[in-house]
Parts: sequence; C-alpha cells; structure tokens
Amino acid sequence: MVEPFKRPKRKNPIVPTRQPTLPPSVRSRVALGLTAAAARGRFKLQVCEDCGAVQYPPREVCRTCLSHRLVWRTHDGRGELLTDTVLHIPQELFFRERSPWRIGMVRLDGGVNVVAHVHNAVDPAPCRVRVEASLDRAGEAALVVMPEKRRLYLSDDPRLREMTCDPRLRKILVTDGKSAVGQATVRALAAAGADLIWIGRAEPWKKVAGFEALRELPQATIVPLDVTDGRSVRELAGEIGGKVDILINTADCHRTFGIGTRRGVETAQLEMDVNYFGLLRLAQEFAPALKARAADGPTGAIAWVNVLSIFALANYPAHGTYSASKAAAYSLSQALRADLQHAGVRVINIFPGPIDDEWDQLELPPKLSPNALAAAMIAALKGSVEDVYPGDVAQDWLARHLDDPKALERELAQGGR
Ligand SMILES: [Zn+2]
Repeated sequence: MVEPFKRPKRKNPIVPTRQPTLPPSVRSRVALGLTAAAARGRFKLQVCEDCGAVQYPPREVCRTCLSHRLVWRTHDGRGELLTDTVLHIPQELFFRERSPWRIGMVRLDGGVNVVAHVHNAVDPAPCRVRVEASLDRAGEAALVVMPEKRRLYLSDDPRLREMTCDPRLRKILVTDGKSAVGQATVRALAAAGADLIWIGRAEPWKKVAGFEALRELPQATIVPLDVTDGRSVRELAGEIGGKVDILINTADCHRTFGIGTRRGVETAQLEMDVNYFGLLRLAQEFAPALKARAADGPTGAIAWVNVLSIFALANYPAHGTYSASKAAAYSLSQALRADLQHAGVRVINIFPGPIDDEWDQLELPPKLSPNALAAAMIAALKGSVEDVYPGDVAQDWLARHLDDPKALERELAQGGR
C-alpha cells in the first residue's frame, strides 16, 4: 500500500527539540564497500573470483573456498521473500522510537540470505521481491525489500520515508534562482510538492529571462542572497535559517578559461568566491541551524544539496579555473557531509557534465538540459543516494575516473572529453 503524505503538525515551540538518534552505524572496513555502492544508488555484493560464490554479510575471505579474491559486483537484487515480521519493541532506540517496524528475510538469486527492512507495499511472504541498498540517516547502507515489478520510491512508505529527503511539503532554500539551473530547480521543486521555496537572488538590478515568472508560483518567495557577501548570507540565515528543511546550493560562477587564455587572476577569484567561498559562507551560517533541527521528524531539517560539476573529479583544461574551483567546493562538501552526518542531515552532491547554458556554448553535444539536472536532483531527494552523476557525459567520466584517474587526466589533457 502506498500511503500519501500528510501535512505535518506545526511544531509546538514550547516542546524542546529532541536529541537526534541514528540507526546503528558501526561497520567494519570491508562492509564499507556496500555503503560506497549505495551512495551511488547501486546494490553490490562481494563475489569470489575463484569459485564464484556470492557473499553476505561482507567478509574478508570466501565463505566456501577461503579465497581472498573477493570483488564487489552489482547484483540486481532479485530474490524471494522467505519470511517477514513486524517488530513492536525493537532493540535499537532509533527503531523503537519508530515502531512497529517491518523486517524480513530474503533469499537472493545467487544463494545468500539477507535480513532487510520491508517496504509496506510488498506482499506477505513468500513472494518475489527486489532488494535495494539505500543510505539510512546515519549515512550507512541499509537493505530494503521492494516489490519486484512495481517501481516505488522509499518515500511511499511513511516509515522508510525517513531514509529519504522527499521535498514534498518541505521548506526549501534555492540559493540562486536566476540561473537556468536555478530556475529549473525551483520549478521541479514546486511540481514535486514543496511547501515553500525561498529563491535567492543576487544583483536584483540585473534582469534575467524567465526569473520574474517564478513569482507566479504560489510557493515561491524571492529573498535577497549574494553568496559572495558574508553579511548577506548571515542576514538571510538569521531570518530563515531556523525554518529551512532543505538547502539547495545552485550558486555557480562559470567563465570558460584555461590558464593561458586570460591574464590576471580576477576571473578565477570570482569563480572561487562563488563556487568555493560561497559554499563555505553558506555552510558556516546555515549548517548549525540545520543540525539543531535535524530531530524534528517531518518538520525537521533533512538535506543539503550542492550542484558541483563532473569537472571536480578531473580538471578539464578548457575550463581550467572553473574545474579547480569546483574541485575545491567538492572537497569542502566532504567536510560538510562529515559535519552534518552526525545529526542525520544528508549532503547530496550532483556532478553534471556540460550543461546546456551560456557558458558551455562552445562545448559539443551531448549536453545536459537544466530540466534533466533538476529531475535527477528530485529523484535523488526521493531516494537515498548522496552522489549523483546525471547524464551520459557524467556517467562516462565517472566510469573512466573509477577505472583509472590518471588515464582520464591524460585524455582530457589532449582535449578529449
Ligand atoms: Zn570462493
């Protein structure tokens, strides 16, 4: 059964905010392979290269032949739900606060059994199912049993909804609503049922096509925000910081320059000021407020989204200074993620390839449309991934980067993409 969202009750201001509890998060180093795959939306299990046996739980040596040659391979998650039950008094505090909680045991095709959370749309056992690896609020992999054929979101089940950052009925700040990506993001959030969208606007005297039309959205409120100005960020955080459930940083400065194509460092400084220092200013002013409200359940702070670039993984010399600023922002976002993770606030990074906007005009297709980027962002919020690589170019770069970062660097140096 798919349960619709209900508007949460307003928080009683006299009741103190709860301390956040998180699902148990201690994992062995080898088990982090499961989490690393889940962070990109994949379900991987170890497979023995010598005898082919699939392994679960993750381990150091093969369960049948004791070989050390275990590799992580994608599993389609299909299997049979053998049994399921509902826990009324779970042992862990996190689940006890949210009981009753449905769990079950699945025999995966490949012959291993897993115990997993069960989506409430799954029929009673026995039945065919699909297991997905999702990130829980502690940022660790958790296995969830989904119906085999129906494509459902985690957020369709009110208990599993906490694993997601579904924007429905949420209050969201989009830091720059003027860019093409910013406008697409605002529209996608409105369509996804956001309750309130604050749209940041720097340099209000500059007119941008399409921006004024955003005012017609009933959820939209335009607020002054210039991420290059510490006072502007501080003032907005003082005004709305305690209400923001999801912060989406779309502020981006992109000038197409390599090292030798322009004298001086002013352009590069501007890129750093928006892409790196802008993120730092936002993090310093907004992150404490988000952390403080992380335990408020349906009215709490849940996510922080950064629109980075696939150029953050490896420098693309034609966009050399921009790549460097995005790499800096990527690095900082990892520190932000570590900081917010303890409270259960998820940091989602998006790594698009060239976007179909004014600064990538000279790039050859394929290019990612701002609408496709926004759709990928909404899907990430409704699911549980934390790193998103939307579009063919980003997927291709990621595959090459994972295969051999040095080979990718060489290829890009020769002008390849
Ligand atoms: Zn083996």
